[in-house]
Amino acid sequence: MEETIISDLKNIKSVYLDNNASTPILPEVKELMNIYIDKFANPSGIYKAAKENKMAVESARANVARLLNASSQNIVFTSCGSESNNHAIRGVVNGLKEKGKHLITSEIEHPSVLKTFQHMETLGFEVSYLKCNSDGIVKPDSLQKAIRKDTILVSIMLANNETGAIQPIKELCEISHNFGALFHSDAVQAIGKIPVDVKQLGVDMLSLSGHKLYAPKGIGVLYVKEGIELESLIIGGGQENGMRAGTENVIHIMAMGKAAELAENHIKNSQNIKYLKEKFEKRILEIIPKSRINSANIERLPNTINLTLPNLQGELFVLAMDKKGVSFSSASACKAGSKKPSYVLTAMGLSDEDAHCTIRISLGIQTKESEISYALEQMRGVVTNFNSMV
Ligand code: PLP
Repeated sequence: MEETIISDLKNIKSVYLDNNASTPILPEVKELMNIYIDKFANPSGIYKAAKENKMAVESARANVARLLNASSQNIVFTSCGSESNNHAIRGVVNGLKEKGKHLITSEIEHPSVLKTFQHMETLGFEVSYLKCNSDGIVKPDSLQKAIRKDTILVSIMLANNETGAIQPIKELCEISHNFGALFHSDAVQAIGKIPVDVKQLGVDMLSLSGHKLYAPKGIGVLYVKEGIELESLIIGGGQENGMRAGTENVIHIMAMGKAAELAENHIKNSQNIKYLKEKFEKRILEIIPKSRINSANIERLPNTINLTLPNLQGELFVLAMDKKGVSFSSASACKAGSKKPSYVLTAMGLSDEDAHCTIRISLGIQTKESEISYALEQMRGVVTNFNSMV
């Protein structure tokens, strides 16, 4: 075993450890996409080639439904996770105005949720933003305190993209339902990494994205429970059961369906990733004095490490590691280039300075033990270099 790692190490030129930003497309997914590039018939047609494409789309829908323990008719294909989040929030609130205009989310959501709620404020809705604790968890009692009779929608993510912190969705959902509010969860980071069962969680809506699940960018899913009135954001034809107009993106839908089918196995094997992550964390703490893992003592995604390296600017560290062929993230990918510290980390109580000195490492199903050893070796070198410059 050790020998294989050592011989692998010699051949490593680059190591990708930013899988929460995006994942590589799996060979099986690529293969299916290649087949559907030439199957161009519009699934709405009544001739054979069109009907075949329609059937293929429905088989992909069934795969996604199976992964979530949902029914096919609950699955709406969208263009990305951001669209799914926008659709869930903007698509239900108008129909619920008679009950009230109060909405609840948390301070640690992805911008596609946070900014949508900020937009709802400009339309006359009132929004409460729940705080998280120092582990990055939104506690059910904070929802219990904020929720009211006129609350119509609560949206809390299943797992945070920066820390991997898994939120107590079942409890949060139960509290929301006790007050007659709908519950949406952004499960973009959770899917394929941990089991996600919409019935067990009790959610009304749930968002997914293809490119975090080894499918390409440009495909997303919104799960919508029966009986929920969802307005279409894109008005036109009656595709997706009237919930999203636009000719189906057959190639990407097939990719998502294949990725969902393969994800069942990845979840079963998630112990391997967790083992590698824990080994990695242990070695990092040994070789980098004063380094700290955030959200270390709570239930986290098996692949995510959020690491504070005091006195080492996260961005400079990531750039130095890039020169050695190792890809990490200094914050969530959507915020790269921003000078502001991560709002997720400051919401957890980290100082601006510590938040600037934090990086995210996210393993993927393709990550090998030899790659972790390589990354560790390079980290040790970069840290020594930084320290000698101080
Ligand atoms: N939600 C979370 C938690 C994410 O991490 C991301 C992407 O980073 C998104 C939503 C947006 O997904 P997409 O890139 O498909 O729009």
